[in-house]
Parts: sequence; structure tokens; C-alpha cells
Amino acid sequence: MQDWVYAAVAIWAAERVFRGFHHVGSVVGARFFLRAPLVKARTEVQDDAIKLSVPANGQTWTAGQHVYLSFWGLDLLRRPWLFGWTQSHPFSIANVPSADATASREMRFVLRVQGGLTRELAAHIARRSEAKGGQAVDCWVSVEGPHGSAPAAADFDTLLLVAGGSGITHPLSVAADVCRRAAAGEAVVTSKIKLVWALHRLEQAAWVQETLEETRSWAEKANLDLSVSLYVTRTASAATSGTSSPSSSASIDEEKKEDHGEEINAGGKCRKYSGRPDVHDEVAKAVSDSPGRTLIISCGPEALANEVAEAATPYLSSAVKVDIARFEC
Ligand SMILES: Cc1cc2nc3c(=O)[nH]c(=O)nc-3n(C[C@H](O)[C@H](O)[C@H](O)COP(=O)(O)OP(=O)(O)OC[C@H]3O[C@@H](n4cnc5c(N)ncnc54)[C@H](O)[C@@H]3O)c2cc1C
Repeated sequence: MQDWVYAAVAIWAAERVFRGFHHVGSVVGARFFLRAPLVKARTEVQDDAIKLSVPANGQTWTAGQHVYLSFWGLDLLRRPWLFGWTQSHPFSIANVPSADATASREMRFVLRVQGGLTRELAAHIARRSEAKGGQAVDCWVSVEGPHGSAPAAADFDTLLLVAGGSGITHPLSVAADVCRRAAAGEAVVTSKIKLVWALHRLEQAAWVQETLEETRSWAEKANLDLSVSLYVTRTASAATSGTSSPSSSASIDEEKKEDHGEEINAGGKCRKYSGRPDVHDEVAKAVSDSPGRTLIISCGPEALANEVAEAATPYLSSAVKVDIARFEC
């Protein structure tokens, strides 16, 4: 066999062993935590995504972090190339730990169903859930991390958060963190947060309903101006047929040029629009209305991320910062 094959296998095996250590231990600040390598999570499939809620078991994390998840269980291990110790996939934590030490802490995730592990997992969860009359079901997961960080959002006067699909997880955790800290009386400069979320169907807002509600209640307690705009990018017919034709979204844009939005309740008061958000307009308004420094965070598909980067570039300065994350969602 060629030497490079041994080298590739050795790198893969070393990475698996290293990750194995991370699964049972983690360092937060100066503290080292030992934890159970497998935890029982609650899962359900909802509108093309898997909602996953994992007990934190003493683990802590900060806004904007992600972990690597792998999925276990006898049924799943029939496909060992996808589940168990062979694959770990990165997912952002959508919420922040509650400051209330007595509250049960959980990490919440939204896993958009793609074509590999997530598709098989969604089919498995849907089958088990159907057998239980549509209830959420348990699933063994292994959590490795947390990794990464977000900018110090609470130091900015205005936050503009732009998300596409399951890319909501990263910016929502930032909004939740700032609102939670303001509600707890911590020093927070932020006075205004605007969350702009483009999603295929309104029902998908339920992916993060609990975290949106929690964030809204912290914002109200802290008297912080939090506004949430949901942009529904597909027509009912496109949603029913499952097509993803960009022309269907474009046709909504045409029809709804005069759309002033509609107030709805989706994890608290939100404004719902049809079509895609005008990212250039959102960025211009956020910067011009800000009494001081503005932070723009975007997370979503490549096209949205590029649009936000392009819209923000003319304003970049010490007063305007941009943070962009990209993944298929
Ligand atoms: C830091 C980070 C945070 C993320 N957070 C979320 C989130 O909160 N919600 C969400 O729905 N998705 C998130 N993703 C994307 C998610 O990891 C992939 O969609 C998922 O791994 C796809 O699995 P699959 O086997 O079903 O995908 P496939 O159908 O095989 O591939 C779909 C897409 O996912 C990418 N992908 C596949 N495997 C991996 C992997 N191990 N690591 C990174 N990318 C991969 C592929 O390149 C492709 O673009 C995040 C990605 C990163 C890097």
C-alpha cells in the first residue's frame, strides 16, 4: 500500500482519538470538567430541521459557540459510517445558559436536514416519533466542545443580526446573551437589537421559539429595544411542491414591493414580510439610526453572507464592525 494511505489513516485515527478525549473532558476558563460521554437528548423533526435539546449537565458555554455532535443508539449503529464515533458534525448552540442556577440548563440546536448524516437521522427520528403519536423522542448524543466565540456584542450600541434558515442559531444566541446580561443588570452598552431572519416558511420560526420567547422576556425586563423581522421567502405552492426555485422567491419580491409587514406572534411579537430582506437598506438604516457603534452579524448561506458583506463594506470603520459566518442552511 502507498505511504500516503498510511499517513491519511494515521491523521484520521489521531483526530478521532483526540476528539474522544474531548468528548469526556472539557476546559472552561481554568476548570476542567469530566462528563458522561453520552447524554440523552430530546429530538423532533420540524419543517425540514431536527430540533435537539441536550441537558447541559454542568457544562457552560458562551454566545456564538458551537459543538461537535455525534449520534448513538443501537438502531443508528447499523450505519456505522454515519453514526457513533466515526462522524462528528459542527452545530451552533442557539441559546445561552440561564443565569438562574436553579433552572435546568439545556443546549438547544437546530439541525437543518441536508443530504448525509442529518437526512438519515431525521428519517430515524421521524419513524420513532410517528410510532409514539408524533411526540418528541430521546436520542443518545455525544457533545464535544464548545468551540469558537462571538464579538463582544454588548459593547456596541446597535446590533443588526441577519440570518438565513438554520443560520439563526448563531446570531440568536448573541441577541439572547446581550438581553440576558442587560436583564441581570450587567454593564451593557446596547440599546437596540434588530434581528432579520429569512426563512422558507413561517412555521420554521418554531425551530427557535423557546429561545426567542426567552430573549424577548429579557429584553422587556431590561427595556431594551428588540425587533424581530421574519422574511418568508417561499410561496405556499413552492412550499407544498418542495421546489426551491429562486424564481418563486423573486415573484414574491415583485408582488410585494409595498409590503409593510404584518404583526404576528412567533416567539413573541414579530413583523412578518414576504420575500427576501433588503439587506442594503437594513444595513444603511442600522448604521444611520445608531447613536454610536454598530455591530453587524450575519449567518447563513453563501449568497446572504456575501450580500451582507457587500452592504456593510462602505461603512466599515472603528464605529461599524461586521462578523460573518457561512454554512449551508
Ligand atoms: C461552525 C459551524 C456551525 C454550524 N452550525 C449549524 C447549525 O446551527 N445548524 C445547521 O443546520 N447547520 C450548521 N452547520 C452546518 C452543519 O455542520 C452541516 O450542515 C452538517 O454537518 C451537514 O451534515 P450532512 O452529513 O447531512 O451534510 P451533507 O449533505 O453531506 O453536506 C451538506 C453541507 O454540509 C457540509 N458538511 C458536511 N459535513 C460537514 C462537517 N462535518 N463539518 C462541516 N460541514 C459539513 C458539506 O460541505 C455541505 O456543504 C454549521 C457548520 C459549522 C462549520
